[in-house]
Amino acid sequence: MSYFAGKRVMVLGGSRGIGAAIVSAFSQAEAEVVFTYSGSKDAAASLASKTGATAVFADAADRSAAVTAVRNAGPIEIFIYNAGVIVSGDPLAVSPDDVDRLIDINVRSPYHTAVEAVRSMPNGGRLLFIGSVHGDRMPFKGITSYGLSKSALQGMTRGFARDFGHREITVNVVQPGPTDTDMNPATGPLAEQMHAQMAIKKHGTSEDVAQLCLYLAGPYASGITGAMHTIDGGFGA
Ligand code: NDP
Repeated sequence: MSYFAGKRVMVLGGSRGIGAAIVSAFSQAEAEVVFTYSGSKDAAASLASKTGATAVFADAADRSAAVTAVRNAGPIEIFIYNAGVIVSGDPLAVSPDDVDRLIDINVRSPYHTAVEAVRSMPNGGRLLFIGSVHGDRMPFKGITSYGLSKSALQGMTRGFARDFGHREITVNVVQPGPTDTDMNPATGPLAEQMHAQMAIKKHGTSEDVAQLCLYLAGPYASGITGAMHTIDGGFGA
């Protein structure tokens, strides 16, 4: 029997891309998976029917809705915050409302939903945040708000690791580099510029990121906490 059989896993933002790969990987490992979606109702329904996971509508930008979804799904043993958006452009020109929404989804929501998850989480549970290599490094202009949000996850993770260590709850960030999804297609206009920064000059896959999550949530990772785990083809090397 799989180590994950029957374990309750929640993925915030699981309808597409990396989140969907995480939902699939944990479902395949026989976990009981609940995931949220916001804009992609059809994709969420199709993923739920393919994997047996439960899809729940909750906009991560709406604190009360996101926290309620977590409370209703609890007690959660493995909590994974994947939802993320990017805002690109000159800081002098981008919409302040778009930047605030990004901060709501990428920073405020992971903080508040993780706290809610921990309220009923059993000892030895796991918190994982999907950050980005841009939490460490920013070789491009135009995505400052995204970079700040992913750096914020690092501070949050170090703090939560201290706060919840007495319950043996581990807290980690997975930091992908360029990964082939709707957000960052392998054939997109910026692909070449990204590959130029990489030791292995190609986009990674969502499935690779999901397998790293599986490891960090698994039995051999009980001593890994307060740490960043980069999977970026050498983007930051
Ligand atoms: P996609 O844009 O392909 O998918 C984003 C996912 O987040 C979707 O499932 C989407 O759900 C969900 N989401 C976004 N906003 C909300 C919201 N308000 N409420 C609920 N869910 C939401 O992105 P990726 O799969 O590429 O990215 C996933 C994570 O990985 C993000 O945190 C991103 O920053 C990070 N990342 C991605 C990299 C890449 O190269 N792809 C590199 C580094 C980090 P829905 O459509 O239902 O709203």
